Amino acid sequence: MSAKEKFTSISPAEFFKRNPELAGFSNPARAMYQALRELVENALDATDVHEILPSIKVVIERTSQEKEIYRLTVEDNGIGIPPHVVPDAFGRVLYSSKYVLRQTRGMYGLGVKAAVLYSQMYQDKPIEITTAPVNSKRIYSFKLKIDVTKNEPIIYERGSVNNDTGYHGTSVSMYILGDWMRAKSRVYEYIKRTYIITPYAEFYFKDPEGNVTLYPRLTNKMPTPPKEVKPHPYGVDIELLKNMISRQKEDTTVKDFLVKEFQSVGEKTALSVIEMAGLDPEKKVQKLTDDQLSKLVDAMKNFPDFRPPSPEALSTIGADLIELGLKQTFNPEYVGAVTRRPKAYQGHPFIVEVGLAYGGDIQPSEEPTVLRYANKIPLIYDEKSDVVWKVVEEIDWKRYGIEDEQLPLVVMVHLCSTKVPYKSAGKESIADVEEIEKEIRNGIMEASRSLKTFMTEKRKEEEARKRLLTYLKYIPELARSLSIFVTDGKKELAPKVQEEIQNKMIDLVVTKLNIKDKDLELFKSYRVETL
Ligand code: ADP
Ligand code: MG
Repeated sequence: MSAKEKFTSISPAEFFKRNPELAGFSNPARAMYQALRELVENALDATDVHEILPSIKVVIERTSQEKEIYRLTVEDNGIGIPPHVVPDAFGRVLYSSKYVLRQTRGMYGLGVKAAVLYSQMYQDKPIEITTAPVNSKRIYSFKLKIDVTKNEPIIYERGSVNNDTGYHGTSVSMYILGDWMRAKSRVYEYIKRTYIITPYAEFYFKDPEGNVTLYPRLTNKMPTPPKEVKPHPYGVDIELLKNMISRQKEDTTVKDFLVKEFQSVGEKTALSVIEMAGLDPEKKVQKLTDDQLSKLVDAMKNFPDFRPPSPEALSTIGADLIELGLKQTFNPEYVGAVTRRPKAYQGHPFIVEVGLAYGGDIQPSEEPTVLRYANKIPLIYDEKSDVVWKVVEEIDWKRYGIEDEQLPLVVMVHLCSTKVPYKSAGKESIADVEEIEKEIRNGIMEASRSLKTFMTEKRKEEEARKRLLTYLKYIPELARSLSIFVTDGKKELAPKVQEEIQNKMIDLVVTKLNIKDKDLELFKSYRVETL
């Protein structure tokens, strides 16, 4: 017989401190990448979601020679953070402004806190935050850590200074144990891929070796920002309903509750749903029994006539910005993109976007380069376990006219949703949700059709070119015959005339048919010996 079990409870902070790999902090290299990501994603959420063109500065410096400790700083020009919430935003795990139905990069209220927890495990300096909300007369600064047992911020320093310049934004610095040599390529890849999907942002990046890279803003055009929406009835469950009801006034009826709190529900629809549940529409919603609640949820989930979830909460990039990003980064021969129509899974709206780039400077390889994105976040790790990979792997590119042994092909897939079904809190891969998988497949097929048209045209042009070049082979012969004819027996003049005719014809053909580069060299090699 074993001894008695001992039961205790731990705080969410303690939980993530014990299991940092769940949030992506599994080793110093990965942690460096993950911490940077969390800061950059918060910076972007504070800008483009609020219609501010993002200017983001990222600096990594090595601060200790004995240990590989780095100071990470990310600065943005976003909406800033009200000073009274700063301590909780950075010091309380599962505290967020993003627990609403609107597409954002963050959604768990965990990211930056997971980074802080990791940071304080291997060195002793607190995290530093400087921030000014829009129109704030002062700029606030904080130094804090997390009390892991209590899941609370511990403030080490706070202060404020006058804000004379109208500055708004946030700068966050933290010290972490890292491994730059191992993290380097992923960090650069992360920034590059973020830049592809946010060509309206500018980035400054200084790495710990002192290299500075500037990523200039490519356009001032920003996607329409997402709007906050009410929940869709298909997305409810009993617990969510209870939670919503607890916030209602005492005299709110079941009917009013449905109409007021959910999207796609008007009076008539509400009455039909309530009838389906066998309830009284005028009953006070707070008086519903558990059994009645369960019937209401069933009716909401099975009611056949709701409009699909509103895509207003989503913010796609749009085909033109995707093409711009791909063009700038890969300099391809072909680029094309599609934004699909909104769809839904389990009451959550989603939209798939697909971009394809082919040829040009793209490095050919056995498999296409796959760029995965979810809510404008590039996903870099765990590629093979992602539903996107599963779909791409099944595509037969030959069907779309791509015959190359090695594919010079980039496939970009962007999933936008108010709820991205990530496989873990580290947000690196998307789970196989049937509706999403199908839509990704349809998206790739739609985008590939334009690529196919391009490939067919390209093949036709190539064949026409080859034919043309064959005909052009006869020019020198023709020039020789003509020269004999024109010089009429004066043999000594013939070579000169032949040369002249040949040059003139070549010039004419080259300019008229716009023959260039390799073709031109080939063409010129057709010259035959003069007589
Ligand atoms: P999440 O991003 O999932 O909400 P985080 O722990 O990363 O969770 O951030 C917590 C909250 O702190 C955010 O919801 C946001 O309100 C605020 N925040 C963090 N960084 C910034 C920033 N750079 N600008 C504005 N607000 C920020
Ligand atoms: Mg975040």
